[in-house]
Parts: sequence; structure tokens; C-alpha cells
Amino acid sequence: MESGEANSSALIKCRSIRMAIPVIEQKRCTGCGECAAVCEANAIEIIGEKARIEYTRCYSYTGITCQSCMEVCQREAISFID
Ligand code: SF4
Ligand code: SF4
Repeated sequence: MESGEANSSALIKCRSIRMAIPVIEQKRCTGCGECAAVCEANAIEIIGEKARIEYTRCYSYTGITCQSCMEVCQREAISFID
């Protein structure tokens, strides 16, 4: 997916209850792993030098406020959408 890797079912669920979730802009991501290191939910994997979020584990997806990954990314590759 060009601008992020949120899957469609995750987006549909989030939009239906108006929560914000992190999305990774693949072009900006260098695969440095800083976001994965800081994620307490262990929801980010680095695959093929790109970060990928497992939404079933992400705190934001379950309604808990968390923006740690976005705050740590020096490439500004992570943004939140709702
Ligand atoms: S911190 Fe940013 S650049 Fe580094 S792996 Fe995560 S999304 Fe990619
Ligand atoms: S929002 Fe929090 S829980 Fe979700 S991927 Fe980012 S750091 Fe992990």
C-alpha cells in the first residue's frame, strides 16, 4: 500500500468508533527499529527494512491512548489517522 499499511478491516473498525491509529509512510521508513523498540505492546515488526504494525496488538487500536511510535520516529514516518 502506498501511503501506509493499515489494512482495510482495521480502518473500517477505527472509523466506525472514531479512534485514531498509527500508519507508517513506507517511503519515509528506513527500518531503523526505534519505533519497535519503544512500543510497549510489541506491536511493530521490521520486515524487509520497513516497519509494520500488527493492529491487533496496538494499544491505539484497542482504544488506549498511545503515540510512542510516532514520537520516537525521527523520519516522521508515522502519523495518526481516524
Ligand atoms: S522509527 Fe520511523 S523510520 Fe524507524 S522503523 Fe520506525 S517508522 Fe521506520
Ligand atoms: S501506538 Fe503505541 S502500541 Fe500502537 S504501535 Fe505505536 S507505540 Fe505501539
